[in-house]
Amino acid sequence: MFIYPSDVQYTCVQCGKSCEHWRVWVDGEEARGKSWELEQDGPRLRLAQDDRGRCLELTEQNLCRLHPDKPSVCRQFPFLLVETPDGVQVGVSFRCTAVFQGKGVDWAEHEPGLRELLERGVPRVGFEPVALGHYQLDWQTYKGWEAFWLERLPYDLCDAVASTMGAALGLHPQSLERLVLMLTSSAIGFLESYNNEGAAVVAAAVAAEKEYKSSRRGWTAPIRRAFVGEMSEQAIRYLSHVIERKNVWLGSSFLGRVLMLLTAQRMLLYYTRLEGFALAVDRLEGEWLLHRQGLDDLEQTFEDTLLQLV
Ligand code: SF4
Repeated sequence: MFIYPSDVQYTCVQCGKSCEHWRVWVDGEEARGKSWELEQDGPRLRLAQDDRGRCLELTEQNLCRLHPDKPSVCRQFPFLLVETPDGVQVGVSFRCTAVFQGKGVDWAEHEPGLRELLERGVPRVGFEPVALGHYQLDWQTYKGWEAFWLERLPYDLCDAVASTMGAALGLHPQSLERLVLMLTSSAIGFLESYNNEGAAVVAAAVAAEKEYKSSRRGWTAPIRRAFVGEMSEQAIRYLSHVIERKNVWLGSSFLGRVLMLLTAQRMLLYYTRLEGFALAVDRLEGEWLLHRQGLDDLEQTFEDTLLQLV
């Protein structure tokens, strides 16, 4: 029933990393009557943090005071289950230290916990064909594409996507490449800025290989030929898992998600040069591919931009 990921393992190493430096959203219904320390964040609730960004329930020994009665979002981490017509795909977050380092027990040992997660409901993908412009993508065709993308990923994922999805849409491969480069600069602008104006300035600077002011980090030196270079073995392992965990079939917009993945490949090269591979993966997992907040509109814009080319 479970389809386990290749080349990925997990056993908690109690590093505490998943409990700090990001907002852990909690469902209001679930929190009712609990003594959890919560904060209102806009219309939503999240676990309160101290001034170091650590969840208030996390002890100095990196143990959770609420365990095992912690919020479901915490119980689920780092797993991401997706029901497919072939079984339940097990995915994991690469923000988890053990997953990132490939440390873990045999998957059979996780099965009772995974069954418990499954009972609470998981997203379903692939049961209905997905519309791509005038084309309908079904599960069997998608699986063929996915296998091809995984095989071609070490060389050029953009090229591989162009010869599958691009061909279905009647898109010239070079148009996709140019679009992805343009969107990658804008994606970096988006991650480095808090407003549209700042994002546009950063995006233009990245495209022109000029220095820019990041609202989050201050000045950033220009990176020459920022999106060119060979991907490391680690980068290939990470992006393979993103494809394998059905990341691109999970969003509201299939084409938008594919473009997010293609830009992520380029952004991985960019951020790895800027701050190293581990932080680059944290940034992409936390803000772009998996633990996403408010990216649906952007994803839709990506899709609309691509469809204008067709
Ligand atoms: S509630 Fe527990 S598991 Fe969840 S973020 Fe806080 S310390 Fe971590």
